[in-house]
Amino acid sequence: MTTLLHIRGIARGINSPLVGRVTRNINKETELSYFLLTPNVDTKTTGHYIGILTSQQYEPTAQSGLPVVYRLATLSHLEEGDIVVVSPEGNVNTLYRIGSRHNTLLLTERCNSNCLMCSQPPKDRDDIPYFVWLYKKLIPMLPKDCRELGLTGGEPMLLGDSFFELLELLKSELPETELHILTNGRLFAKSELAKRYGDLNYRRSMLGIPLYSDYYQIHDHTVQAKGAFTQTVSGLYNLAKYDSRIEIRIVLHQLTIPRLVKLAQYIYKNLPFVEHIAFMGLENMGYARSNFELLWMDPVDYQRELTESVMYLITQGMNVSIYNIQLCLMPEELWPFMRKSISDWKNIYLDECQNCSKLSDCGGLFASSAKGAHSKFIKAFNS
Ligand code: SF4
Repeated sequence: MTTLLHIRGIARGINSPLVGRVTRNINKETELSYFLLTPNVDTKTTGHYIGILTSQQYEPTAQSGLPVVYRLATLSHLEEGDIVVVSPEGNVNTLYRIGSRHNTLLLTERCNSNCLMCSQPPKDRDDIPYFVWLYKKLIPMLPKDCRELGLTGGEPMLLGDSFFELLELLKSELPETELHILTNGRLFAKSELAKRYGDLNYRRSMLGIPLYSDYYQIHDHTVQAKGAFTQTVSGLYNLAKYDSRIEIRIVLHQLTIPRLVKLAQYIYKNLPFVEHIAFMGLENMGYARSNFELLWMDPVDYQRELTESVMYLITQGMNVSIYNIQLCLMPEELWPFMRKSISDWKNIYLDECQNCSKLSDCGGLFASSAKGAHSKFIKAFNS
């Protein structure tokens, strides 16, 4: 089952986006940053809210002083304390789910690369001022015991000064939270940017940076940007100079598999300072879907290359994980490195999985793989 993150109703009294937590408590008095969730707006409330979100079908008359979105198809996906942004058009987007370990802040849809397998293709529109505004509102509302948070894009480093402002805010508001930032690393080729990041001394922050080949032409072709390999590798060295925490991410497909073992050797010999290496199965979304014929490889067909690469790095003492691949597709020696990596809101299991004795250990599939875009070798283990 995937999770609903967006609903739409009819808005009244909302002139600009509002950000707040949600509650079903009709007597909430503690803070002003709550939306009341209620099936019926005429409920007698004594609390204070920034607005009301309701499944009521007709326009409310009572509580008329408050902004309201009515005729919402459902509210059941929202938990007490989730945080939403509500737009004047009646969109209710979930920004933070209290019960999830997979919360991610999308900082921009702009990117300076155009990867052939990008699951969320870049959009050339100036969304940065909106997202910066949004997250400056959101971050102080996040629960202080939030264990981990992702920052993603697009390319987050395109935010420039605003990226560092948000990072400073996160560091002061959520000092205990593990931060994972997905960046293509190219802008860190400017040493002053790497220094600025390093000077933050944000030890709970890790940069996830993709490297798709040891050979520059393959990397540049994969990310559709000339010079990207040189920039990313320069960026990695600049970041290492400031002792930044780095993860290398490698998406597995027809373009990366042929030199995978060589890439593993390159990483050990040239980038021994990286803290973690993630080998990642392909997500069939965005460009990956339109380039499916060009990219897709059944994981069973790259078992040999993946096993050799993982074992090589492990033998050298490096820290390795495998993401987004199902247990039944890999040899048992790789199972200790396979993680449940797919975000809960897009994670599914097939009918075949329901009788599998390893279901609770297996990370399952992306929802986007459901209609046949997955290995034909998925097969339940019988205990
Ligand atoms: S059958 Fe399903 S649950 Fe079992 S290992 Fe394969 S993908 Fe995972």
